[in-house]
Amino acid sequence: CANSRPLFEGKKLGEGTYANVYLGFLKSDPTKLVAIKKIKIQKEYTEGMAPDAVREIKHLQELSHPNIITLHSVFSSKNQNLNLVLEFLPLGDLEMLIRDTDRVRYGAADIKAWMGMLTRAVWFCHENFVLHRDIKPNNLLIAADGEVKLADFGLARSFSDPYKPMTANVITRWYRPPELLFGAKHYSGAVDIWSVGLVFAELIIRTPYIAGDTELRQIGLICTAIGTPTEENWPGVTSLPAYTTEGEIHPVRGRDYYMSFFGTVGTEGVDLLMKTLILDPKKRITALGMLQHEWWNQDPKPTRKQDLPKKS
Ligand code: ADP
Repeated sequence: CANSRPLFEGKKLGEGTYANVYLGFLKSDPTKLVAIKKIKIQKEYTEGMAPDAVREIKHLQELSHPNIITLHSVFSSKNQNLNLVLEFLPLGDLEMLIRDTDRVRYGAADIKAWMGMLTRAVWFCHENFVLHRDIKPNNLLIAADGEVKLADFGLARSFSDPYKPMTANVITRWYRPPELLFGAKHYSGAVDIWSVGLVFAELIIRTPYIAGDTELRQIGLICTAIGTPTEENWPGVTSLPAYTTEGEIHPVRGRDYYMSFFGTVGTEGVDLLMKTLILDPKKRITALGMLQHEWWNQDPKPTRKQDLPKKS
């Protein structure tokens, strides 16, 4: 849409793995600030557009929801550079708030508000047959009014065709579910739910809960922190291509264990967390199931978005 082509490109907002991001505003409405994401040309793809970028466009333009970043337009500039004109989200991301333990204080009501926004975003993606596949605090950007928006759909793809093999090498390692670590080629929205669970855990303890420095270590840490995947708790798991367990078998952790680390969100909060971290993806709670959970009805009520803590 030519009208929403940015008139002005300003300062650099940041740099990612495959893009530089600049501030701009729209020709059609100069009061509207936007973020222009310029996709770096990858050598292998100079003939066409980078596949990650194409996926990002396809999915983002279809999804319109308050908790999903808006894509205003897409245009290409000289040297076939691809430009995404995105909603400008000036208040950083959830990772910045989680890490700033010196200056940022928050509690159970704030966590409930953020988790509500994240869960609604994921539910909407899944309703529209889109997997995000890279949910982590750094991809949850914060709008001026406090709304949290799921961003960076570089890895998202439709899962409307369940028989099409999908690559298992997605999702930043710490948030990657066991089925992907074991090399499953067919997977579902449950992969995002695992990541949501680990964001939930991290919001509570303010440090990544399962932070392996290799894939093998990540599996080992899942076995100790959550439990060892076995045929008993996950029928079929031992047939997955990369199934391994290191040494002794750890039983699946119970409620008391979770309460000792995550008790600040109450028994219902802990119950919800445990259901997002069920090893067998078929038994893991769905986004709809999460929204129907009793935790949301319990005190404290979620903080209003305008009252949520902000970066200082
Ligand atoms: P990549 O997808 O390649 O990792 P990112 O999307 O993470 O790139 O963008 C890199 C940086 O640009 C972010 O860390 C953030 O600082 C900034 N940024 C990205 N999108 C926006 C936006 N919509 N509004 C404001 N800043 C943004």
